[in-house]
Amino acid sequence: MGATPTADGIDLSQRLAPRLDRLIAFRRDIHAHPEVGHAEHRTTERIAEALKTEGLSPRLLPGTGLVCDIGDDDGSGRLGLRADIDALPLHDESGTPYASTIPGVAHACGHDVHTTVVLGAGVLLAEAARRGELQQGVRLIFQPAEESTPGGALDVLRSGALDGVTRLLALHCDPATDVGRVGLRVGPVTSASDHVLVRLTGPGGHTSRPHLTADLVFALGQVITGVPAALSRRLDPRAGISLVWGRARAGGAANAIPRAGVVEGTLRCLRVEAWQEATGLLPEIVHDVVAPYGVTAHLEHTPGVPPVVNDESTVVLLDLAGRFELGEDGVVPTEQSLGGEDFAWYLSQVPGALGRLGTRTPGGATYDLHQGDFDVDERAIEVGVRLLARAALENGWGAVSPVVPAAAPQVAPENVRVAPENVRDAPENVRDGVHVARPVGRWVPDR
Ligand SMILES: [Zn+2]
Ligand SMILES: [Zn+2]
Repeated sequence: MGATPTADGIDLSQRLAPRLDRLIAFRRDIHAHPEVGHAEHRTTERIAEALKTEGLSPRLLPGTGLVCDIGDDDGSGRLGLRADIDALPLHDESGTPYASTIPGVAHACGHDVHTTVVLGAGVLLAEAARRGELQQGVRLIFQPAEESTPGGALDVLRSGALDGVTRLLALHCDPATDVGRVGLRVGPVTSASDHVLVRLTGPGGHTSRPHLTADLVFALGQVITGVPAALSRRLDPRAGISLVWGRARAGGAANAIPRAGVVEGTLRCLRVEAWQEATGLLPEIVHDVVAPYGVTAHLEHTPGVPPVVNDESTVVLLDLAGRFELGEDGVVPTEQSLGGEDFAWYLSQVPGALGRLGTRTPGGATYDLHQGDFDVDERAIEVGVRLLARAALENGWGAVSPVVPAAAPQVAPENVRVAPENVRDAPENVRDGVHVARPVGRWVPDR
């Protein structure tokens, strides 16, 4: 009986050990020099240099970001490993020796770690390819602007950099999970996340005579509380619809009713179906809420990203790799979050999965993402590198069923764009007196 060939004999820990210090130094350098979306020029250069040092040939993407192929494409397509490389416009409060040197910019979402992990996996896989151990070709994808809306993933797709990739993996730092563990889930793992803006206008007037004008601030208050409340009663609560305002502005004097006011926030949703329903309901609800107050409402609902929906066979692959490298306790279940991730756009084209990489020191503090003091236990870098490299090695040996391209959910991200300013006044976008900046595209649920 012939044994199934495997990559079990390859000790990734041993191969990584002499390179780990250099990888950690790389992460700290990127962390100290963060760049926001579409401005990641230095970061792109540093990654390209590191790849060339390994004898690889990275290809720069238009603007920022890069991709790099490892091994041959035997016709079955490549396995993609994706990292996002951008930072956030936040002040770094970590107090570490490698804290950001750029005022107001910080790697507070761990994308410096993602970048380092994919680079490290690439280094190990390049060695495996040289030794003839890599059965299926790999493409490293370092994408720009994940934190932008609707996300740099769309730039990568438009550039054709995903062509030839048949399965895609990514890891995201998870400060709620201990280092040494990876959180996995089949199906939706993040949520739809859109930008919503409501602008009210009216004639303005004296606060002593609200009955002679339109009390705009009062109406804005009704929008702030009434619209989320109505949405929660019109949609299935199990869909986890969440409209939360982050900014409200109106007026300049205590005794003057202003002519304009605006409120902005995010609409998040666990299920694509409910997201689509909410998109249809919002104009009607905004209209009904402000109708008694004589103000004019203008609604801009800009689609952000759909949920990341993890493909089952790819989760099986990560699960196998996780158990192999981290032990049985190394793989833990994870919840669907209300966060948004532009990785979702790739999974509208090819099957794949996003795993959550534990970054918390056991028993230590939990630092939340998008906070100025966010930092990771750097042992997560070794974990992430071994996990992705192992998955790539196992993938080639047929550890999981081959992907069927037709199984990918049918979505057309090229049809989705941020609603331009001039959309709002187009006659077809005015319904019942409410101006609606309609999302141009729509995504179709696959489950
Ligand atoms: Zn983020
Ligand atoms: Zn992130």
